[in-house]
Amino acid sequence: MRTLVTGGAGFLGSHLVDRLLKDGHEVIALDNLFTGSKANIAHHHENPYFEFIRHDVVQPILLEVDWIFNLACPASPIHYQFNPVKTVKTSVMGVLNMLGMAKRVKCRILQASTSEVYGDPLDHPQKETYWGNVNTIGPRSCYDEGKRVAETLMMDYHRQSAVDIRIIRIFNTYGPRMAVGDGRVASNFIVQALKDEKLTVYGDGSQTRCFCYVDDLINGMVAAMEHEGEDAHEPINLGNIQEISMNQLVEEIGSVIGRKLHIEHKPLPGDDPVRRRPDISRAKERLNWQPRTPLNEGLTHTITYFKERLGLD
Ligand code: NAD
Ligand code: UDP
Repeated sequence: MRTLVTGGAGFLGSHLVDRLLKDGHEVIALDNLFTGSKANIAHHHENPYFEFIRHDVVQPILLEVDWIFNLACPASPIHYQFNPVKTVKTSVMGVLNMLGMAKRVKCRILQASTSEVYGDPLDHPQKETYWGNVNTIGPRSCYDEGKRVAETLMMDYHRQSAVDIRIIRIFNTYGPRMAVGDGRVASNFIVQALKDEKLTVYGDGSQTRCFCYVDDLINGMVAAMEHEGEDAHEPINLGNIQEISMNQLVEEIGSVIGRKLHIEHKPLPGDDPVRRRPDISRAKERLNWQPRTPLNEGLTHTITYFKERLGLD
């Protein structure tokens, strides 16, 4: 199997590359290094089954592959809002280019979609059948709507040209190799705690998320790609179901680090979803998948990683 991972130098992409190489694939990681880093994949430098291509998915490319995992897209609000027009281009033109390639070489393609397609959800927990509550013109729209159009294009290529597609909707995932300056909450809180800084809680900290450890997510992603059958093209939620507030996340990190952490409140960003939790019945039934890693265990691995990154060991 020759497999392409776009966004392969990023947080999730680099873990997927590790897993695919371990499973015996020949892997091409394609990345423009906007938020990713060569350091995440440097350990494969000498591996003859691994290749890195510096390329932007907005530009067409033709590669002969059997599988495409399309992960290229900044995922943290600070990065996807840095150049919102580019974010839309990355999602929409990126998936168009990858779908064009998949159609031409007749390969299977998986799109890394997101819980953000549900926006600020009015249904709770979120099932795949929920159509979402997304603001089309807000600060998060470039990401949310870009990912929604990406799903639309995936389904249209499937219906119109019989492209073999998989769509996963990823909920908040954390773990080693998140960038120090990533800006998402788990890495922000951990880095701030390790540097003895105050943890920046946006708003009153009562908003909730569910945090999935990266190894669990990658298992689900590969299971979704391998899944066969009539329904294999339908979107599947992947995420943890333990719902906690940002205030509780501060407590959890404090208990792993072993001291009381201090916080400062910052304004809640516009359109920040109030609650989020996946319904993962579909993933359980169809993929026999569910997350296994408890939050304190995942946080322990992540904290160990950031200690090393920050030179605190
Ligand atoms: P990340 O920012 O670490 O990785 C994204 C990667 O894509 C980076 O390596 C970046 O350099 C690359 N990239 C960005 N724009 C590109 C372009 N135009 N051309 C080529 N490469 C480009 O984020 P991540 O958490 O690893 O996210 C990976 C994918 O999973 C994204 O598509 C994201 O939307 C999706 N996702 C992640 C989460 C999560 O919680 N981690 C949740 C939902 C969806
Ligand atoms: N958040 C926070 N402090 C931070 C970063 C984020 O309180 O330093 C909050 C943010 O407002 C949101 C939640 O944490 O309610 C998750 O944010 P993140 O950016 O990780 O993911 P997303 O909002 O995309 O789910």
